[in-house]
Amino acid sequence: MSTNTAELLKGAAELFPDEVVTQAHVRHLELPGAVGRFALITLDNGFDHTKPTTFGPASLANLNAAIDQVEKEAREGEIVGVGLTGKPFIFAVGADLKGVELLKKHEDALAIGQGGHAVFRRLADLAVPTFAYYNGAAMGGGVEVGLHCTYRTVSQAVPAFGLPEVFLGLVPGWGGCALLPNLIGADRAVSVIVENSLNQNKLLKGPQVYELGIADALFEGADFLEQSLRWTAAVLKGEIEVVRPEVDRDEAWDQAVARGKQIADDKVHGAAPAAYRALDIVAAAKSGDLRAGFDAEDRALADLIMGGELRSGIYAFNLVQKRAKRPAGAPDKSLARPVTKVGVVGAGLMASQLAMLFARRLEVPVVLTDIDQERVDKGVGYVHEEIDKLLLKGRVNQDKANRLKALVTGSLDKATAFADADFVIEAVFEEMSLKQKIFAEVEAVVPEHAILATNTSSLSITEMSSKLKHPERVVGFHFFNPVAILPLLEIVRAERTDDASLATAFSVAKSLKKTAVLVKDAPAFVVNRVLTRFLGEVLRSIDEGTPVDVADRALAPLGLPMSPIVLLELVGPAVAHHVSGTLHSAFPDRFGVSENLGRVVEAGKRNLYVPGSAKPELDPEVEALFQTGDVQLTEEQVRERALDAIAQEVRLMLDEGVVAEAQDIDLCLITGAGWPFHLGGITPYLDREGVSERATGRRFLEPGVASVPA
Ligand code: NAD
Repeated sequence: MSTNTAELLKGAAELFPDEVVTQAHVRHLELPGAVGRFALITLDNGFDHTKPTTFGPASLANLNAAIDQVEKEAREGEIVGVGLTGKPFIFAVGADLKGVELLKKHEDALAIGQGGHAVFRRLADLAVPTFAYYNGAAMGGGVEVGLHCTYRTVSQAVPAFGLPEVFLGLVPGWGGCALLPNLIGADRAVSVIVENSLNQNKLLKGPQVYELGIADALFEGADFLEQSLRWTAAVLKGEIEVVRPEVDRDEAWDQAVARGKQIADDKVHGAAPAAYRALDIVAAAKSGDLRAGFDAEDRALADLIMGGELRSGIYAFNLVQKRAKRPAGAPDKSLARPVTKVGVVGAGLMASQLAMLFARRLEVPVVLTDIDQERVDKGVGYVHEEIDKLLLKGRVNQDKANRLKALVTGSLDKATAFADADFVIEAVFEEMSLKQKIFAEVEAVVPEHAILATNTSSLSITEMSSKLKHPERVVGFHFFNPVAILPLLEIVRAERTDDASLATAFSVAKSLKKTAVLVKDAPAFVVNRVLTRFLGEVLRSIDEGTPVDVADRALAPLGLPMSPIVLLELVGPAVAHHVSGTLHSAFPDRFGVSENLGRVVEAGKRNLYVPGSAKPELDPEVEALFQTGDVQLTEEQVRERALDAIAQEVRLMLDEGVVAEAQDIDLCLITGAGWPFHLGGITPYLDREGVSERATGRRFLEPGVASVPA
């Protein structure tokens, strides 16, 4: 067994020469209470905690060799048990995704799954009991290796524990899908494997791992290993009996799987296969036949590794993890000026959310202004309520809540309020002349070095700043509603914006913990331009005569967070109409203005569908307003039209230099519009579906980026 495994892994290691290799050090110790000699395997890649331990093929081979050694010792009666732990702060964070990306053939992908199983399963088959001590972060294969052990302990200090595979486009394929439901029951397993994963990769902390029953014991972080070894000794002596609740194998199992399918449908609408494949294995695991479960995991893993969704998922993961941290085109950060006080003009929907964010993240005084006291009070009141919510949830303590509240004040007098502000952001109505007037007023009262920022969704920043004495200090700072949830911040450089102002904007964005993307001063920037273009095509189909329900279902196979009409309702028909008007003025041949939408706005309707109805149902009043033609397209035709339009618009944006690369457009759509990882934002999807070539004559990304290498 071990020789075959060794050969399998050797072959796989040749495909992945740059692996950061994890060592598996074996040391021996005497367990307390004269229980006997014990072998402890420590996983360590030789780096500090900033480079977490992973499992590539050479790492698995090292663990395999360590198990060879302890297997022999166990067989010969030299040890009473085997433990497995990690380096400080990290247990192990699973398969090395860089290696997964390199796999080109189904059989190689299958070998990776089989290799992991073959090594990990040996921990269950040893002649002595095995113990996993989850001392730090454990994810994916890191969690799974422990599931093969006889017992598990977890540290209170574990900050992150979970199975993020489904989130990325994989299944927990080294035992997770088959073992976890048999350990903690199908319902809890579905929560960990599917629900948490699809919920923006929600991770567990040490105490939750214990409460779920994944670990048999929970110990303080400070002397975790010592306590775990003492517990191990007591278990081996029979002083502690580990009793696990019986797993319910009746209807509860099927209901759990059905619940998981519902969660997957709600999140990805059938558009990405990973969650469904994982649930099929969980369903089959009811029989308790682990061998069959592991085989099913190998097949699912290999299929998914060779599929486009995973490649897009890894690409998207790298964008939000890496590119987001080093924004393309940002000036040298040493040019940034400190910000010690913030002014906010307007106290409406966006402005009050911005005041909350600035106060919470920068912890500097924030002053809100508006046209009357009532609006100002409402804005400040909103922030105070939000802080109270944080207090209730235990996210801040009373002292911090008091301090944050004291930082946010309101004023009707800009001259006094902004006299010592370093950064003033306006979020008043979307009107050029109003914004120009506001900036002129603000410029007259703020210090020389202050930055003037605008949250405009579509207007030209260059024009907005054109009448100022110092247009070089104006930047676009475009947030997305809801501000607390959507991470994106489009930072717009106008024609005369200088490097110091831009550097300050990026430094503020970092302190606000936002994903900043540098964008050229072009109509509607990135997200709104793409959304408006595709929404425009859907509305055009409706205006021409395609039934609303057909047009609205057309994009369903992409698994977007919501349908076009629901998106329109969320943005607000009036705002959407306004933005399409701005884009129509800039690019009349590509952006239409829907007359039917105009009628909806004029009638003051906020919804097109009857609110609260179980199925989308067009409001009869809206239907009465609609005047349509008689050209009826199919869902497929509407989809083709909308996707071609997106591809064309993205190509034009790249040609115009709106952003540095296609990657930035994808990052914007993922973090500003919640577009799914399995699409990789949008360009990997357009490439793999052949839309890019059809609509623009070429791909957006090099072959091999976000796709299987040739
Ligand atoms: P809103 O109507 O909720 O708020 C605008 C506020 O500006 C109102 O309270 C109004 O009284 C105030 N105001 C108007 N004139 C003023 C003046 N002279 N001095 C001080 N205050 C004045 O609007 P909103 O949705 O918060 O949008 C504000 C800006 O943010 C717009 O430019 C909009 O395009 C942009 N934006 C909106 C969203 C969104 O989803 N709503 C998202 C991103 C950006």
